[in-house]
Amino acid sequence: MDVSINEAFGKRKIMGITKMKDWGLGIDTTKPIVVSGPCSAETEEQTIQSCLGVAKQGARILRAGIWKPRTRPGSFEGIGSEGLPWLKTAGRLTGLPVTVEVANARHVYEALKNQVDILWIGARTTVNPFSVQEIADSLRGVDIPVMVKNPINPDLKLWLGAFERFEAVGIKKLAAIHRGFASYHNTEYRNQPQWEIPIELRRHLDIEMICDPSHICGKRSTLQKVAQKALDLNFEGLMIESHITPDEAWSDAAQQVTPVDFGELIRSLVVRDSNSENPTFNTALDEFRHHIDEIDEQIIQLIAKRMDIAREIGKNKKDDNIAILQMSRWEEVLKARSEYAQSKGLSKKFATHYLQEIHNESIRQQTAIMNEIELEKV
Ligand code: PEP
Ligand code: MN
Repeated sequence: MDVSINEAFGKRKIMGITKMKDWGLGIDTTKPIVVSGPCSAETEEQTIQSCLGVAKQGARILRAGIWKPRTRPGSFEGIGSEGLPWLKTAGRLTGLPVTVEVANARHVYEALKNQVDILWIGARTTVNPFSVQEIADSLRGVDIPVMVKNPINPDLKLWLGAFERFEAVGIKKLAAIHRGFASYHNTEYRNQPQWEIPIELRRHLDIEMICDPSHICGKRSTLQKVAQKALDLNFEGLMIESHITPDEAWSDAAQQVTPVDFGELIRSLVVRDSNSENPTFNTALDEFRHHIDEIDEQIIQLIAKRMDIAREIGKNKKDDNIAILQMSRWEEVLKARSEYAQSKGLSKKFATHYLQEIHNESIRQQTAIMNEIELEKV
């Protein structure tokens, strides 16, 4: 995570953002606020049937991609403006607001002409400040909510910057959509969730967060797990792609679900409150947290003690002109401690990250000693 973000933005909350409430659109904002509909509007029948299906299953906002930013040419690039009235018809039939992705000023013009209720900015657009600014400029004086997806790359400043651009032109109804971050390697996810980034965004910005498990997962089987995790992290909403016949979808077929499966998924989720009114629970929680605070202090004291020893080693190595890093020793520590941590119920992932960080700090401390430089300048 880029630490300089704090210097760039401080803890500034962008002022004037209108919390979702219902954005004047009559949206039911009890959690989770669910946005659903097909990845792409393909035909009038498919758009309307998919939307009616998800509305029946509890969707509160209807989505459909009209212009599809595809990574490589040759796949379906969206039906274009022709699809806007289809989505609007679905909105009229269900009484629900509709949302589309806009990637330039022409899309904005077409969407507004067709009374689209909410706009969203796609991940491939948030990465480009010129595009975001063009869209923001085209919205000057327009009162419409805008949802901003995270940029494809894990860059918090770009995501924050997009909100700043919209805020600067007077758009106050803003929400964030977390759709995960691209990575070169094929992993469990199509896009890495990197949950710490949306959490960090919310430290800087008092804004509603909607998770898009469809684009994080890229497949159906893990949608539920990711959606539940988002709710466990207190996200306000979910955006889930749904298609009347998902296997035949012209885009993102593997991750779309039928409206019925969408309904089942939503009903399977456990919504947790942010706060409890129950005094017994609150007292117990306070006690647990107090205990955790104490343990955290002890951990830090122990780490500091460990670093005292690392510095002593540094001094000795300096006197004997020995290099800081001995690979075999590091490998031995990593293996033995990681196994020990796992035997104590800690995950391998945590154990590895923790040990690497401890080791990095140890090297930093020794580098400072050996080269007589300030620790913070290492
Ligand atoms: C989409 O929502 O269909 C889409 C293109 O998403 P993203 O911008 O997250 O890739
Ligand atoms: Mn999609």
